[in-house]
Amino acid sequence: MVRLNEIRAGEIAVAEPQQFDAGLIYIGRVHTPWTDRLACPRQGRSDGPLCRIELFEPWVAALDGLEAYARIEVLYWLDASRRDLVRQSPADDGTTRGTFALRSPVRPNPIGTSVATLIGIAGNILTVRGLDCLDGTPLLDLKPDRSLFTPIAPPQHGDFQTDD
Ligand code: SAM
Repeated sequence: MVRLNEIRAGEIAVAEPQQFDAGLIYIGRVHTPWTDRLACPRQGRSDGPLCRIELFEPWVAALDGLEAYARIEVLYWLDASRRDLVRQSPADDGTTRGTFALRSPVRPNPIGTSVATLIGIAGNILTVRGLDCLDGTPLLDLKPDRSLFTPIAPPQHGDFQTDD
């Protein structure tokens, strides 16, 4: 499913739930060169074009310290996606796979993640490379790349005991 509402041979759609279990807030917006899903890369690349991430208030104060990381995880809401396919045919060749075996934007909660190279932060604007989303895609979260991140207090053996 690349084109909106296209169903390919073998793909299976289900009825979408009538109510939601959680609320999200858009904390910013991603600005990229791509306005058409067909032109958008399937995955971002570290040598991809410069993109801008605009953070909204009151969340700008939450950027403090992020500049220390060369790579960041960017989570965004793939807002133009349908959400009801359980089997998909990425190659449109009649073969299908389960949605959770794919990184397709079509999923029950269309969250996209990319590890982006952080070029710089100026005020509420981050400049990065490595994104793959449409211009204007809503931003959900930013985190240091987990491979660069050292937890403050690494868990010790036995920290997570359970009753059973
Ligand atoms: N890197 C993310 C991931 O793996 O979670 C997203 C991968 S997804 C295959 C990227 C594709 O999603 C793009 O090629 C484009 O077709 C589509 N896409 C990008 N922005 C979108 C948006 N705002 N809404 C719906 N689809 C979008």
